Amino acid sequence: MTQSAAASDARPVEHYDILVMGAGPAGAAAALTAARHGMSVALIDRRRFPRDKLCGGGITGRCAAALERLLGHPLPGHLAEERGTFEFHAHGASLGTVDGVPPIHLTTRRAFDTYLQSTAIAAGADDRSGQKPTGIDPGKCRVTLDSGATLEGRILIGADGVASTTARSLFGRAYDPHQVGFAMEVEAPPEQDTPDRVRIDFGAAEWGYGWHFPKSGSATIGVGGLHGRNPEMRAALETYLRGLGVDPSMQKVKGAFLPFGAFRRIPGHGRVLLAGDAAGLVDPITGEGLAHAIDSGRMAAEAATEALAEDRPETALPLYRKSLGPIHGALRHARALRLVIYAPPLKAGFIRAFRDSRTLRHDYLRMLGGQREYADIMAALLRRLPRHLSRSLLAPARAH
Ligand SMILES: Cc1cc2nc3c(=O)[nH]c(=O)nc-3n(C[C@H](O)[C@H](O)[C@H](O)COP(=O)(O)OP(=O)(O)OC[C@H]3O[C@@H](n4cnc5c(N)ncnc54)[C@H](O)[C@@H]3O)c2cc1C
Repeated sequence: MTQSAAASDARPVEHYDILVMGAGPAGAAAALTAARHGMSVALIDRRRFPRDKLCGGGITGRCAAALERLLGHPLPGHLAEERGTFEFHAHGASLGTVDGVPPIHLTTRRAFDTYLQSTAIAAGADDRSGQKPTGIDPGKCRVTLDSGATLEGRILIGADGVASTTARSLFGRAYDPHQVGFAMEVEAPPEQDTPDRVRIDFGAAEWGYGWHFPKSGSATIGVGGLHGRNPEMRAALETYLRGLGVDPSMQKVKGAFLPFGAFRRIPGHGRVLLAGDAAGLVDPITGEGLAHAIDSGRMAAEAATEALAEDRPETALPLYRKSLGPIHGALRHARALRLVIYAPPLKAGFIRAFRDSRTLRHDYLRMLGGQREYADIMAALLRRLPRHLSRSLLAPARAH
C-alpha cells in the first residue's frame, strides 16, 4: 500500500492494487487469491467478523470443489457436518428418500465466513472490516470509509452481496426487483427422530422450495422462491413449520433477498468487477450461491492480477467475463429448467416424475454434487415428462 495527498482534507489517500468491497465468501476468495499473487489488497466490510449471515449453510459437492480450488486443500472438518441422506416431499406427500449419493455438508455462516476472511487476512490482505463505506467513486476505484480513510485501487472488486453498493454505484440499482428471490428462515431446536436427514419440500413456496437442514446444535428451516410469486412468504414459512411439528410462534424469523437467476451478463464496468451475489450468481432452482461466489471471487482476482501484470487494468473485465462463461451457461440452463420444475402447468408433472424416477432423484443430487450438469437433468426430464404431464392433466395432482 502507498499513500498520496487527498484532494480535500489532510488524510492521505491509501493506494492498493486491488480493493475488495465485502468480505463474504466472494470477497474473501478474491482477496485471498489476489494476496497470494503478491497484490496489495484491502478487504473492506461494513461488519466486523465474526458476524452472522442468513443462509442455510448448505455446502454442496460443487461448493466443496470450489473451496478446494481456492484454498488448495479441503475445508477443515470442524467447520462442517456431513449429511448423506435426503428426503424429498411435496404437499405433505413423500417423493422418496435417497442415500448413496454425494453428501452435503452443513455449516454456520458465522464460522465459515470468519474462516475465509481470516485466511485472506493471514495471506496478506489488509483488514478493513468494521468500517462502513460512506462514498464510492467507481470511475476512480475510490472508496471512503466512516473511519475517515480514503482507499484507491487500480481495480475494484465489488463482492458486497445482493444489495451491492458497488453495483448500485455503477448501474443505479443492485438487482431487478421483478426477478429477485426472497427467503425466510428460523434456527429451530434439533429434531430428535431423523437428526441426520436433509429434507427438501417442493410444495413449500411458489417458484422455490422449503428446506430442513439438521445440524448438531439446531435445525435450519426455511422457505424461499421468487419474491414476486410469494407475497405471503411468512405465511408459507409458518405453514411449513407447522407441517414439521415446529411451533412458529416460538421461532425468531429472519428474511433476506437473494439473486434468483438474473445474473449480470457483463459483470462490472470499467475497472470495477462484480462477484458473487453482487453479480447475480445464484442458482435459480436450488438457491445455491456459495460455490459460484467462491469461484467468481477467485476468477475476478485472477483476471485483475493478469491485467495488472500487463499494466492494462481495463482488460480485467473482459478476462473475467470470459472465465465466468461456464457459470453463466449453467445459470442459463437452470433458468430454462426452472420453467419445467416450477411453472404451474408443469410442476405437477415434474413432481410425479421425481416421485417415480429414482434416476431423476439421483441426478438432481449428483447435480448438487457437481457431478452432473443441468443440461443432463434437462435431457433426462424431457424424456420422462410427457408421460407424467399427460397423467397430471388427466388426473390433476395436488401440486399446482
Ligand atoms: C435464506 C438463505 C438461505 C441460503 N442458503 C444457501 C445454502 O444453503 N447454500 C448456498 O450455497 N447458498 C445459500 N444461499 C445463498 C448464499 O447465502 C449467497 O449466495 C452467498 O452468501 C453469496 O456470497 P457473497 O460473498 O457474494 O455475498 P454475502 O455473503 O452477502 O457477503 C457480502 C458481504 O458484503 C458486506 N457488505 C454489504 N454491503 C456492504 C457495503 N456497502 N460495504 C461494505 N461491505 C458490505 C456484508 O457485510 C457481507 O459480509 C442462501 C441465501 C439465503 C438468503
